[in-house]
Amino acid sequence: MIVVIDGPAGSGKSSTAKAVAANLQIQFLDSGALYRVATLVYLNSRKNNRSFFEQLEESEISFYFKKEKFHALLNGQDVTEDIRSMNVSDNVSEVASDPKVRAYINNLMREAVKHDVYIADGRDLGTAVFPNAELKFYMVADLETRAERRYNEIKESDTEVTLEEIKQNIAQRDDKDSNRSSDPLKKADDAIEVNTSDMTFEDQVAFISNVIKDELSKQTNK
Ligand code: C5P
Repeated sequence: MIVVIDGPAGSGKSSTAKAVAANLQIQFLDSGALYRVATLVYLNSRKNNRSFFEQLEESEISFYFKKEKFHALLNGQDVTEDIRSMNVSDNVSEVASDPKVRAYINNLMREAVKHDVYIADGRDLGTAVFPNAELKFYMVADLETRAERRYNEIKESDTEVTLEEIKQNIAQRDDKDSNRSSDPLKKADDAIEVNTSDMTFEDQVAFISNVIKDELSKQTNK
């Protein structure tokens, strides 16, 4: 079974999905992290003057979820921290707009979720990657709230970054992610919209966990 949460940057998808996964003891998949790993490959390919896509196809991208933390690996090396740098954030939407990159990452995700119950978060999971997902959520929040959340998340590891820079980066990514021609950020018609601007984190987690629990019990009673 697959549950998806789509929505713009900083809407609370990842942190909520992680907590829900830990709560219900299911697996978690952060699709944005995989696009970020592809962006690391892109930045490396620029450094060594190689074809990006060739280098991507030769790369081994893997991940695991442990103790409420999603780990991303590139060629066996844990790059969980590296993929959160501003350099990656500034380039990821461009890299993710390439249909070849999307097809590559989509294939990786579809294979990965085959054998377990997963909650995954992204931009186009309910519309393009898993259109038949058993449950779909679409999380939104206003830009100010989203920028503050992201700032609080990364200010410990990146002391240089300002709230204004994050706000600009999020606004630019919203624009690119929503207007690209290849699988843009979009609410699926059958997704449940959750506006988190005025919700506490605990409320978000409880709401989504309860809907999933109901669905899981429906599935086992079938
Ligand atoms: O979720 P996060 O903000 O880390 O995602 C980073 C970027 O990856 C997004 O801004 C978007 O450009 C891209 N992305 C995507 N499709 C997804 C998930 C993320 O294009 N399903």
